[in-house]
Amino acid sequence: MKTEQEQKEIVESAALSYPICEYCFGDTTQIPFSDKVRYICETDCERYRYSWACPPYCGDIHENIDKCRQYQNFFLFSTVVEVANAWDKEVCLRAKSGHEEISRNLREKLKEKLEDFYMLSTGCTICEKCACPDEPCRHPEERLSSMESHGIVIIQLADEMGLCYNYGGDTIVYFSLVLF
Ligand code: SF4
Repeated sequence: MKTEQEQKEIVESAALSYPICEYCFGDTTQIPFSDKVRYICETDCERYRYSWACPPYCGDIHENIDKCRQYQNFFLFSTVVEVANAWDKEVCLRAKSGHEEISRNLREKLKEKLEDFYMLSTGCTICEKCACPDEPCRHPEERLSSMESHGIVIIQLADEMGLCYNYGGDTIVYFSLVLF
């Protein structure tokens, strides 16, 4: 069994092989959870009901929160992209896909070295159009669920951990989380 410090070193060294921007470690007791995040998903996000990685199809929010709390530590990291127009949805989706690819690759790398960890991201972008809700997920093993589906108030978490979530202008920041 690896010590906590050894696990942190594994996560940090794996993450730093990708073009991430900022990162931090923390204790899961520091993560702000709220079941109200689901309400924001439902009212504000076009992915609600149209992604297997997002609410309401990726698990009960209370069970998801409990699952996160089973881990003691977290590693939060961001990627930042400068785009021509941050209000352009297609541009943002491409930027998000890049972040998701980094997150999936990091997870694969960590699988070789960590016994037990759980990863969350911004929501799945593997397929051009998600199969949800008409057909089963095409890549369930690769899919990463969103942090929001686990009740995580991500902006508050980033803010409290001192990570920047707004670089101004036409930049976009995305976050992923590794629980271990
Ligand atoms: S892998 Fe494809 S079908 Fe499955 S959640 Fe991601 S986008 Fe949807």
